[in-house]
Amino acid sequence: MDRVRDVERLFGDEYGILTFTGENIRRRLSPTALRRFDQTVKYNEPLDEAIADEIAAAMKDWATENGCTHYCHWFQPLTGATAEKHDSFINMDGEGGVIAEFSGEMLIRSEPDASSFPTGSIRDTWEARGYTAWDPTSPAFISINGGERTLCIPTAFVSWTGESLDQKTPLLRSIDALSTQAMRILRVFGTDKGVNRVQTTLGCEQEYFLVHDEDYEARPDLKMCGRTLLGTAAPKGHQLDDHYFGSIPGKVLSYMAEVERDLYRLGIPAKTRHNEVAPHQFELAPLFEGTNLACDHQMQTMSVLRRVARKHNMVCLLHEKPFAGVNGSGKHNNWSLVTDTGHNLLSPKTTSQMGQLQFLTFVCAVVRGLDLHADLLRAAVASAGNDHRLGANEAPPAILSIYTGAELERVLEKLESGELTEFEHSGTLDLGTTAMPTLERHPGDRNRTSPFAFIGNRFEFRAVGSTAVPAWPNAILNTIVAESLDHIADQMEEQLTDDMSTEDRGKIIVDVLRDVYTSHKRVVFNGDNYSQDWHDEAERRGLPNLRGCADALPVLGSEKATELFSKYGVMSGPELEARHMVLLETYATLVGIEARTMLRMVRTMVAPAAIRHQAELAEAVAATEAVGIDAGSVRGRLADLTGLITELEEACLDIESNLGSLPEEEEACVQSVQRSVIPAMDRARTASDAIERIVPDDLWPMPTYLDMLF
Ligand code: ADP
Ligand code: MG
Repeated sequence: MDRVRDVERLFGDEYGILTFTGENIRRRLSPTALRRFDQTVKYNEPLDEAIADEIAAAMKDWATENGCTHYCHWFQPLTGATAEKHDSFINMDGEGGVIAEFSGEMLIRSEPDASSFPTGSIRDTWEARGYTAWDPTSPAFISINGGERTLCIPTAFVSWTGESLDQKTPLLRSIDALSTQAMRILRVFGTDKGVNRVQTTLGCEQEYFLVHDEDYEARPDLKMCGRTLLGTAAPKGHQLDDHYFGSIPGKVLSYMAEVERDLYRLGIPAKTRHNEVAPHQFELAPLFEGTNLACDHQMQTMSVLRRVARKHNMVCLLHEKPFAGVNGSGKHNNWSLVTDTGHNLLSPKTTSQMGQLQFLTFVCAVVRGLDLHADLLRAAVASAGNDHRLGANEAPPAILSIYTGAELERVLEKLESGELTEFEHSGTLDLGTTAMPTLERHPGDRNRTSPFAFIGNRFEFRAVGSTAVPAWPNAILNTIVAESLDHIADQMEEQLTDDMSTEDRGKIIVDVLRDVYTSHKRVVFNGDNYSQDWHDEAERRGLPNLRGCADALPVLGSEKATELFSKYGVMSGPELEARHMVLLETYATLVGIEARTMLRMVRTMVAPAAIRHQAELAEAVAATEAVGIDAGSVRGRLADLTGLITELEEACLDIESNLGSLPEEEEACVQSVQRSVIPAMDRARTASDAIERIVPDDLWPMPTYLDMLF
């Protein structure tokens, strides 16, 4: 009975209990304030000061009743994490005492010192002023950490000069840009009635690894970098596919359940949990939401995943490639467009020809956007961590292409010959036994090798890395699609007139779409994206293959990108340049930390163990030969080990000298890191891993892959 009541509570009263939404608001606001607040949340209407004061007071009452003494403006600077500066509600009461107070002014705006956040070239460090501005469309929430409760208010973060210094601002602007262009398409089709806005929706599938905390503590690389820099593969990987969707270990399940409980209380609709492909790898996926909210929720989800793991004596690794040789982790970005009346614009479910053409218009805009800006979308997912994942086994390659699936492919092929054919929604699946219900079959199969796949009613952008701040790739995706919708709307508006018959309109629309599709279909690929054939074919088609950050990040500095983002008001030239610089610097800094961690581990852990074993072997050789026995194989082992120790040391010297001679200029520095530091690190790893395979277990100074993953 208790369990039943628990479940009822979890999906009932407790859901969203830590957010300023629903009853928590309704009980506390006057009807006028409630209505105005609602308008703001739904239609982005501005709030006046009096209402803001009322909302702030209600928020404070709610927060203090829930045990908060402090509030913070919660934002996403360009660090890849979230930031919060706590202020107490305390204020002088004018009579020598203090009271809890929170005004509209404090709710709407705060002024954290911006000097220590990355700003690219926008600001000098002595220019400290930055503002956070309340985003009323994302609910305030109470975070509980170390038993302490804090009211967190989602905000945007901008400089004193008004430039965005965060991830949320460009995202919100990109959603506006997309909405404006999508509305034009709806007007062309006459489906805009009652629609005020088009939103994007997002559901992020978060993959992660779990390790025992004592293993984590014993590995400087996990602690410093979130991934192993050394370590030879265990004899077993995921060849047997026995982990994927396998039964979830009890310890992990109780961790997942606690994560979900925390998420539900924060109003985050966690839905799916399962084992992933690699040993110790798991996934969590929520129900999809509006993109802005989904992005804020994703940032909270990552922090809940990390925090709760420690309570269960585990550490949650969100890195894209914590372990070499087994699958990395992604954050599949399920993305669609929906009107505020609830119509999914990427759903082919429609009964009319015009409906079908409207669906194809949005699909063609995505195809065109991806073809024109594959480089930019690749740059959107470029990070030091993702460099190890993209193109490695079981992750999509760095070449961006679209998988349409068989049915959409067929419809698009018809379109190319100027015909409109009906989208067949499903067949049925005969399981060959009468006892089982007939299954409806999806119009297309899945393709897990594609970086960007159409899956029935949305696109799944699979190249996004597991640590990614989702606001960034979504801002870019929205903008490139907005541009193509703009282009297509221009064409259609120019040629269509009100007095045309539906049939004539249909013909013109088909012509426009045919042109778009034929010019950009080279980005469509329905085969195996892992195969070498595809890499060759993609090269013939002229699709960019930007392998690492040094190849991809410069795209953000291009004129084409600058024009695109400023044209749609998503980022000004300086704002984009700032991000470009921050990403370059972040990459070089991260790899620098990895390199120095590796040097330290090699010099203080691996080399000493190797030298001890070298001495043991030398002693064994001497002892054996002293009694007149040929030391043969032992001597051979000693020679091997000695060779490896030399290789290891040489690679380390290389790392050091490369690190010491990095150019100042950011792009050149990243080039040099990718082309010289990383290969030297790879050499050091190869030598160290070979040593690990020789040195006796009792001398090896850190947990091995076998210890950590099995
Ligand atoms: P998969 O089979 O791809 O692993 P999952 O169930 O793990 O699927 O995740 C699919 C994700 O896609 C979920 O987060 C789900 O809410 C999301 N999703 C479904 N429909 C849409 C949509 N229209 N827009 C955005 N995301 C969606
Ligand atoms: Mg999944």
